[in-house]
Amino acid sequence: MKNTKHRSKIIDILKCSNNPLTAEEIYDKCVKTENMNLSTIYRNLKVLNENDVIEKAVKQDGTYCYMLKDNKHSHLLICTKCKKCIKLYECPVYILDEKIEKNTGYKLQSHNLEMYGLCPKCRKNENV
Ligand SMILES: [Zn+2]
Ligand SMILES: [Zn+2]
Repeated sequence: MKNTKHRSKIIDILKCSNNPLTAEEIYDKCVKTENMNLSTIYRNLKVLNENDVIEKAVKQDGTYCYMLKDNKHSHLLICTKCKKCIKLYECPVYILDEKIEKNTGYKLQSHNLEMYGLCPKCRKNENV
């Protein structure tokens, strides 16, 4: 894969962000410095995804968000109100894995889990 200027810019933006970003959010962040349009970003995101540099997740509203692929096991926690999502590096179900292996005889290799809730900001607005 050729590491073009655009691609390294997208990687930089994702590196600086703690949250997975949508293509529009990436666009917002780089529009001031680079002359990249949204379709360039989509095209580059697709290439980066195909090359396993980034990963793609679907948010509850059906939009895609992107994050750098790291080898650390993580889960997404997504706000149901504002759709802000963060990565959780604690695995809430790893204890279950052992139990499931014991009960089923399967050797578990991976699992997926997305959690939904209200972020601190939305909690405050909703008073919950
Ligand atoms: Zn929220
Ligand atoms: Zn896990």
